[in-house]
Amino acid sequence: MSFENRRAAGIKSSPSMAIAMAAKKLASEGRDIIDLSLGEPDFEPPPHVAEAAVEAIRKGGIRYGAPAGMESLRQAIVKKFKTENGLDYSTDEVMVANGAKQILFDVFLATLEAGDEVIIPTPCWVSYGDIVSLHGGTPVYLTCGADAGFKLSAEQLEAAITPKTRWLMLNSPSNPTGAIYSGEEYRKLADVLARHPRVLVVSDEIYEHVLLNDKPFVSFGKACPQLRDRTLIVNGVSKAYAMTGWRLGYAAGPKALISTLNKMQSQSVSCVSPVAQAAAIAALTGDQAFVGEGARTFARRAKIVAGRLAEIEGIDFIAPDGAFYAFIGVQRLMGRKTAEGDVLGDDTAFAACLLQTFGLSSVPGAAFAAPGFIRLSIAASEPELESACERLANMVRSLK
Ligand code: PLP
Repeated sequence: MSFENRRAAGIKSSPSMAIAMAAKKLASEGRDIIDLSLGEPDFEPPPHVAEAAVEAIRKGGIRYGAPAGMESLRQAIVKKFKTENGLDYSTDEVMVANGAKQILFDVFLATLEAGDEVIIPTPCWVSYGDIVSLHGGTPVYLTCGADAGFKLSAEQLEAAITPKTRWLMLNSPSNPTGAIYSGEEYRKLADVLARHPRVLVVSDEIYEHVLLNDKPFVSFGKACPQLRDRTLIVNGVSKAYAMTGWRLGYAAGPKALISTLNKMQSQSVSCVSPVAQAAAIAALTGDQAFVGEGARTFARRAKIVAGRLAEIEGIDFIAPDGAFYAFIGVQRLMGRKTAEGDVLGDDTAFAACLLQTFGLSSVPGAAFAAPGFIRLSIAASEPELESACERLANMVRSLK
């Protein structure tokens, strides 16, 4: 018997989580598995984060709080936007939720009417489309190929906008491609949006601090201040401070939209755990050296992986500018046969063989609405990454 309504039946569980669980199961059965499927830093947050959380627990008074988040955390977020992004927001223009993911849930829950369209440039993060669908919206995927640096052009955007378009979903640095938009590229998109006042923008900036070379990060809000009253900037502590499990994301936008998101919070989770909020305050206001060190670690790893991947014949790879993934084109290997005699029909089959036969867990491009690719997380130790590249090379070499 199915318990699912039409909306639940229309979406799938997060593919990267499902693959990570499959990899864990194989490992628990004794298989030698390198799991590069999930996107989370492989190191601990700075010590003052845990200390702040323990201190909050000791102090007691862990009760329900404001759905928007503690005033002191919102002040820290306001300060972050000012000092890091040059953006002016007041505390009633920011809010916190259980991860950036929940903010997207709140956004689409609160704003989409049935059939409203959300433009999603692809390759895109696995969850965008399903969160839109779950709330009655229609994801409109626009393919942004490697030749375009995996980025949306103004012409593509213009051609995709219809009277039903409600949101444009942007993500820079991008998961999975690592592409970063420049201010100029954003401004070209903004010129198009100026002609379409009904279209709102979500800018997912969660990888803001994971920069792998000298390409700078630009906040959409800074590049396009003229769109301030219809832009929601989404960010969080998961990636910058290695706090994925703490579940704390935040957003900044026009007061009326933030107030609507808070209404969603008040009727769903009530508030984010005050313990996680105390930890986030420590992360945002404490010593920021950790953030730069993390980025340098990822940059070193990205370089190692890029060097190894360049030696593998038959795959295509553009080195990422940000985030912590290697997005690898395997299109040219389709139709080849595995050692077991199976014809590789798509990236899902490729990823399955890579896991089952070579013990390397990746996420197939289909999960990012980008067939023909696989994604490897580079959030792993250098020896693990070396070994992972070796496994990929072995698989490619084994194909007939
Ligand atoms: N946005 C992107 C592009 C992501 O890659 C992720 C997590 O992988 C999220 C949002 C979710 O972040 P959070 O942990 O804050 O929910």
